[in-house]
Amino acid sequence: MISVKKAHHIIQDCIPEPRTVTIPLESSSRSVLAQEIRASFPQPRFDNSAMDGFAVRTQDTAGASKENSVELKLTVTIKAGSREQCKIQAGECARIMTGAPVPEGADAVVMVENTSGFNVEKTVEIFMQAKQGDNIRLAGEEIQKDEILIEKGTEIDAGAIGVLATFGFDNVKIFKPVDVSIFATGDELKDPGEPLSPGEIYNSNLPVLHNLIKNYGSPIIHANSVKDNPESLEAFLAQALKESDIVIASGGVSMGKYDYVRDVLFKLGVKEHFWKVAQQPGKPLFFGTAENTLIFGIPGNPVSSYICFMEYIRPVLMQWKGGRSPEKIKAELKTPFPANPEKHRFLFGNVWSENGSLFCRPTEKLGSHMLTSALNANAILEAEPNSRDLPEGTMISVNLLPGAVLT
Ligand code: AMP
Ligand code: MG
Repeated sequence: MISVKKAHHIIQDCIPEPRTVTIPLESSSRSVLAQEIRASFPQPRFDNSAMDGFAVRTQDTAGASKENSVELKLTVTIKAGSREQCKIQAGECARIMTGAPVPEGADAVVMVENTSGFNVEKTVEIFMQAKQGDNIRLAGEEIQKDEILIEKGTEIDAGAIGVLATFGFDNVKIFKPVDVSIFATGDELKDPGEPLSPGEIYNSNLPVLHNLIKNYGSPIIHANSVKDNPESLEAFLAQALKESDIVIASGGVSMGKYDYVRDVLFKLGVKEHFWKVAQQPGKPLFFGTAENTLIFGIPGNPVSSYICFMEYIRPVLMQWKGGRSPEKIKAELKTPFPANPEKHRFLFGNVWSENGSLFCRPTEKLGSHMLTSALNANAILEAEPNSRDLPEGTMISVNLLPGAVLT
């Protein structure tokens, strides 16, 4: 049996280099950029109006006010998207819309509210003295051509998608999310919706794994429920190992007489890196590799399965697609934490913020079969092996669940 720390080190050493792929911008959400993005042009690309109004020469508006307006000759109307090269001379102005190119000769825009309005034909009254640059968005004032916009390794969010679109990127090079296969094994398992016979239970691990994996953008290429029977396991695993980056086996890796997963994996040439970690829950965790495929055998108890995914598989999914796993945070215990003298202990729980500090409390349901302990939890709390329970006030490590809100 190895420690949690050692298990992490072993897994870490087996994660292959991320691969890259180019995909359409619209499907790049939450991917990690595999290229540095530089501005393909200055932004704004050209001087343009920040307001609907009139483009003027400031010297023509000298001394203008509501009581003492200045009259300018209206020569042209420029709308956003206009390609015309316009020019104004002394005493002239142009009607201009937000985003439209500022005509040559103009050095300010007076917004329409400070004029006699758009319903004019030949001349317009200007009610204020304009300052040079008023309401003009200057070319390059936001970004110069070739400046770095987004660093390689950035996770693509709404802001990044917007900036990529602004600069005309329709495709982006990202680190490829890894292909995952999952299966649950157990003769007692039935899928929700099917009637239960005596001794049977519903398979909750596959739906949980589906939900968790989706958060990290990894395609699930095979998902199945397989009987505790070496032939069925071998048929599924042989294909899954060939086609997947990660294979997750839920159940069938413990000491039970019908726990065949390890034997079948060995038969298929999988190299075992560890089996059994000094932790509660999740002690029978298995980790192996077959060429570049990583195989996790996670115990079938629903709490163990969920927690093992979050602790060991989530970081791999994140890192293999070029990202980083969120750091664990520290929070102060509000109730005692039941430690285990020999094992690292994980429990679902809650973290919240109070007067600027973070506090936490483990769930009251401690069994690894009690999945209702995950209801309303926003984190997994953990404690290293300890012969005494950790008292209230101890700072402990907290792994936030996907989408956690600290209330
Ligand atoms: P195992 O790891 O196969 O020894 O299973 C440990 C416990 O978890 C047993 O009580 C199983 O019935 C239960 N279990 C195994 N797989 C699942 C699953 N997919 N969904 C819910 N419970 C499961
Ligand atoms: Mg079983």
